[in-house]
Amino acid sequence: SKVYLNGEWLKPEAAKISVFDRGFLFGDGIYEVIPFYCGKLFLLKEHLERLRYSLKEVELKCDISDFEALILKAIDLAELNKDDGAIYIQVSRGMAPRTHYFPESYDATVLMYAYKTNLRGFQDQFKDVVVSNDLRWHRCDIKSVSLMANILANTEAKKGGFAENIMIRDGFFTEGSHSSLFFVKNDTVYTHPNGKFILPGITRNLLIKLCKDNDIEIVEKGLPVSALDEVTEVFITGTTTQITAIKNLHFPDKIVHFGDEIGKVTKRLQQLFSEEVKNQTGV
Ligand code: PMP
Repeated sequence: SKVYLNGEWLKPEAAKISVFDRGFLFGDGIYEVIPFYCGKLFLLKEHLERLRYSLKEVELKCDISDFEALILKAIDLAELNKDDGAIYIQVSRGMAPRTHYFPESYDATVLMYAYKTNLRGFQDQFKDVVVSNDLRWHRCDIKSVSLMANILANTEAKKGGFAENIMIRDGFFTEGSHSSLFFVKNDTVYTHPNGKFILPGITRNLLIKLCKDNDIEIVEKGLPVSALDEVTEVFITGTTTQITAIKNLHFPDKIVHFGDEIGKVTKRLQQLFSEEVKNQTGV
């Protein structure tokens, strides 16, 4: 398997960056993760559009016009044309003497590679998650590699045996450390609105469209923690998470249970999602 680094395809051991790379020194970089099913990319345009948005928001100059070709080559070189997996892309603000302000001119560092991952069987998962305080900054809409708050919270979750933590900011649920968050209340689906407090999840945006196209009531409104009593289903979404049903929500002082079986709205959306993957990738 090969990794792409600044114009070259290298063995992972041979791919090296400078200690003065701003991605290393400051976490001054942007990333993206794009799934493929049997080697066929899913929602590529949407992911590249979000990458462009993130780069623009932090004024990181990088020409990504050749990224689609590079992505295809990454899958090819990793010999994953028949496998499920994802592309990891990272762009950092290159190498410069260490100053907080960024240099006017620089060569962005571009890293890209394809890896194999399991995208099957999400329909059978029914997981417990733990709640945590949302300690992130106020630009969660940017897919920044600076992920300290996410990794600290998720490590706590992992220590407790949980796959994911879902976060609360000012009394409202926002999202997971690496997933979007949905609730079902009175047959209506709720998810936090896009804006500064969540990442505009590509899977999230697809689910909203699927709801609208299939007469499932969807409201983009943050759910207050106080309204949890009325919630009947919870699920998280993401590129590799896909749509994972949540069975129990663990608070420091209580556990909120969402039934012994995956809820009907969650199931329906999982079905619609799988059909969409099939329609778009042919697998
Ligand atoms: N929120 C956060 C904080 C994430 O890291 C991710 C995973 N990239 C998501 C939501 C889900 O986004 P997507 O569906 O685009 O993978």
